[in-house]
Amino acid sequence: MRLALTRGLEHMHVHRFNPTILREYDIRGVVGDTLGEVDARAIGRAFARLLAERGKRRVAVGYDGRLSSPALAASLVGGLTESGVDVVRIGLGPTPMLYFAAFTLDVDAGIMITGSHNPADYNGFKMVIDKKPFYGPDIQRLGEVAAAGDFLAGAGTVVDRSVSAAYIDRLLRDYDGERPLTIAWDAGNGATGDALVSLTARLPGAHILLNQVIDGTFPAHHPDPTEPKNLVQLQAAVVERRCDLGIAFDGDGDRIGVVDGKGRILWGDQLMVLLAEDIIRTRPGATIIADVKASQVLFDEIGRMGGTPLMWRTGHSLIKTKMAETGAPLAGEMSGHIFFADRYYGYDDALYAAVRLLGVIGRGTTDLASLRDRLPVVVNTPELRFPCSEARKFAAIDEVRARLRQTGAEMSDIDGVRVRTPDGWWLLRASNTQDVLVARAEARDEPGLRRLKALLVKELALSGLTPPPF
Ligand SMILES: [Zn+2]
Repeated sequence: MRLALTRGLEHMHVHRFNPTILREYDIRGVVGDTLGEVDARAIGRAFARLLAERGKRRVAVGYDGRLSSPALAASLVGGLTESGVDVVRIGLGPTPMLYFAAFTLDVDAGIMITGSHNPADYNGFKMVIDKKPFYGPDIQRLGEVAAAGDFLAGAGTVVDRSVSAAYIDRLLRDYDGERPLTIAWDAGNGATGDALVSLTARLPGAHILLNQVIDGTFPAHHPDPTEPKNLVQLQAAVVERRCDLGIAFDGDGDRIGVVDGKGRILWGDQLMVLLAEDIIRTRPGATIIADVKASQVLFDEIGRMGGTPLMWRTGHSLIKTKMAETGAPLAGEMSGHIFFADRYYGYDDALYAAVRLLGVIGRGTTDLASLRDRLPVVVNTPELRFPCSEARKFAAIDEVRARLRQTGAEMSDIDGVRVRTPDGWWLLRASNTQDVLVARAEARDEPGLRRLKALLVKELALSGLTPPPF
């Protein structure tokens, strides 16, 4: 069986991926169903071709703690080297450690094998080239190269190079807290585990580690801190152990979840208010980017503090690209991707965001719960996602946008429509990664929120869509 598979691979001339795995920001699928080792090898060969077209040939490769990751990594490296690429294997670790390698080693690109925050049977590939995200048309082109069998033949080299010590040193270099804190951390058995152990061993303060053993079966809970149920264990630890705060990471460490000393969740946009304030203090007028799902409170607060708020499209690759373009020192998404270009590289690194957050709190005289309570109170819906076909989702948004334009509604249309009314705002956008529409609304009070929801439901109905109750 094994032999037959290998023989088949030796005659790889063309390769067709399951079309569902070539997504907007990464390649991702269900292992053994839509994604396998043959695909990993083809990704390596096609990526090698795209690199060669740019006159490049060195790639750093890392992988997360999923059970399928080492085998996918081996196949990927095989595909890269047989097409003439020189590979630097950095081994097991979080995605931002791979980004760190791509930014600091003598390489032209980086590929991370990771299923991020998805269920254990998922896996995928996040890629950077020339220190920029490899996404959108790049990923489609990779699929075309494979389908055409446009592979190069060569004999690349492989070296192993650990960057974990340098990465931890780099994280610690920017810690600027003055008072030690007590912190509960939840790695969710994801790829941040080992890095977290090393980091907390050298950070001041007391550290309570939860689920720090890397285990691709995710025995404690799903490694996705945007789902409140995945933060229950951390919230309990924070309250029981009287911690100043709790910090959680997603499966590959590019998204952060935060809990205050009272055990309350701070969402990505709330966390961003605190981080933005610290940046704007040293960089008055700085552009701070947040995605269209973020609270109006964040944009208003950035302006009030003397910064320049910029609302941008949801998606970590899009945000990173916009940051580079505008020179923004900080960006963040509701989903917990936080990007620091201030003193750092501008990619989403949840461990780095944690270090900077501890600095902000550890230099202040107040605690996270008080900082949270200081924010203006708003009521909002969670992110509502409901199915809508690929064919219909963008057309529906276009119809809604056209109708709203006729009525002269105040709206932003950089990503779907985000409409402002005296009550607050509502958002309707098409997901770039799934066949779903995403809706959200936020108002100053419950009656206002009801009015916004009614407007949203009315617009959907005019386009023949019925959302589930929310
Ligand atoms: Zn992730």
